[in-house]
Amino acid sequence: MTGRDADGEAEQANGDRGDPCGAVGGVAAMQARRAALLGPAYRLFYDRPLHLVRGDGVWLFDAQGAAYLDGYNNVASVGHCHPHVVSAIAAQAGRLATHTRYLHDGPLDLAARLLDSLPEPLGHMMFTCTGSEANDLAFRIAQSATGGRGVVVTQTAYHGVTEAAAAFSPALRLPGGLPAHVRVVPAPLDGPDPAGRFAADVAAAFADLGRAGVGPAMFLCDSIFASDGVVDGPPGLLRGAAEAARAVGALYVADEVQAGFGRTGEGMWGFTRHGVQPDIVTMGKPMGNGYPVAGLAVRPEHIARFGRDVRYFNTFGGNPVAMAAAGAVLDVIAREELIANAAATGAHLRARLRDVQAGHPVLGAVRGAGLFAGVDVVTPDGSARPDPQNAAAIVNAMRASGVLISTSGLDGNVLKIRPPLVFRPEHADRLVAALEQALHGGTRGHGTPE
Ligand code: PMP
Repeated sequence: MTGRDADGEAEQANGDRGDPCGAVGGVAAMQARRAALLGPAYRLFYDRPLHLVRGDGVWLFDAQGAAYLDGYNNVASVGHCHPHVVSAIAAQAGRLATHTRYLHDGPLDLAARLLDSLPEPLGHMMFTCTGSEANDLAFRIAQSATGGRGVVVTQTAYHGVTEAAAAFSPALRLPGGLPAHVRVVPAPLDGPDPAGRFAADVAAAFADLGRAGVGPAMFLCDSIFASDGVVDGPPGLLRGAAEAARAVGALYVADEVQAGFGRTGEGMWGFTRHGVQPDIVTMGKPMGNGYPVAGLAVRPEHIARFGRDVRYFNTFGGNPVAMAAAGAVLDVIAREELIANAAATGAHLRARLRDVQAGHPVLGAVRGAGLFAGVDVVTPDGSARPDPQNAAAIVNAMRASGVLISTSGLDGNVLKIRPPLVFRPEHADRLVAALEQALHGGTRGHGTPE
């Protein structure tokens, strides 16, 4: 099986066709055990699944000790196993792990720091454990604030795994299709005036919900359109769409689970590039560098009624260990100037990708912002049709060269490159060299970490 995974992350055949390290039996046995124990709903990356045992910075190591350059994992955003984050987690776990029904400085200090990084109207933080929970909570708040239930999202959006969030995650392609309160709009990938078209599409989607008797609740949008194939611009792209949503009384919810925490290289948040101010911002993934911590920021006026009507308690959301992890991540982003690095290394990466693209008709547009890049893989016959099979072949060939990326997009033909923010130009060069090799039908052999 080849194609996009449920959350827009690529899913490739998980056959056990050989293993350069002679561990075929080991991988096959582990796959069988996994299927027996975990059942049928899980998926693996790559034709030859990876059995990883250790991470360090931009490097991952498999059970045989082979090194892989990580061009994909945005969770370990400040680098795998960053010592400052690890020691903050360990120290807090050794001191106290409770929850938000006791007073503790952890959630207060973190809320203050996050709200400082967000536009003024966002005045409260709430903590969850996952991005799905954050979007689920945002939907509850939006329903309470608006009295409506209608949700507009992009065509291949992924927003989470709960029943509510899965219902507005068309990337999942759930049997039965979209529920009656959800409408999709195409991601503003190309064509003239993408911002104007996107705004008009959002307005039309809410109008359509209205005709069906569904009141507006929220326009929910991933600020970097990760599962729609990575859409970066033009700057201002989201402004008209947010205005269109507000014009009908919906909230604009920025899903920053992918774009947040410096990923796009312009400030902490992906929506910053578009000069727009959200009603709610949801965040997660990179927030704890691997420790589960997520949450949302909301304008006080939108949560007033919800706060009156609902008692919010999340056993692990806001626990002191999670707060310590997230605080340490903020320290590292600032100390190591990772937002500036995302901008500089990201620009270098895209320039190198464009150099390769110029010589290879199977590569189409190169998009991205900061350290998030998308490269279309197309047929070379002049028609430039999406070519998901070749995209998967490239991803697997790069894996064989010790470089990890994946695919995304409506057709699953977009190379999705999203390394930890500690990626440096020499790592980008190595990734691009593996891509070139893959385009020539070969692999490079594993490198060693510098
Ligand atoms: N929103 C976006 C944009 C995501 O990419 C994801 C995860 N892929 C989620 C929400 C859900 O986050 P989690 O897996 O932590 O529940």
